[in-house]
Amino acid sequence: MAEFKCYVCEKKVKTGEKFTFTKKGSVHSDCFISQRRKEISEENQEKLRVLSIVLDIELQHLLGILDIRDQPENIKETVRLKYKDIEKACGETTRMISELN
Ligand SMILES: [Zn+2]
Repeated sequence: MAEFKCYVCEKKVKTGEKFTFTKKGSVHSDCFISQRRKEISEENQEKLRVLSIVLDIELQHLLGILDIRDQPENIKETVRLKYKDIEKACGETTRMISELN
């Protein structure tokens, strides 16, 4: 995996850690959520709480797919496409969280 640095805590993102990408770059999902919690208005805190649970589930799902061992060659492409789908969902949820104000 390529090396990424979290723009909030400035630590390297390690394999198996949950992270996402925003316009500002790569960020641990926990760092991202706690930063957003401080930035957004009181009325959107509940939305943030729910979306952060959704994102966490999606990221867990991604890591789970990365963990599948011993994939026969003839299924790798299918798994890659499934991974892409979930990655896209993570991107959408991250964008929704970024847009809360
Ligand atoms: Zn971080």
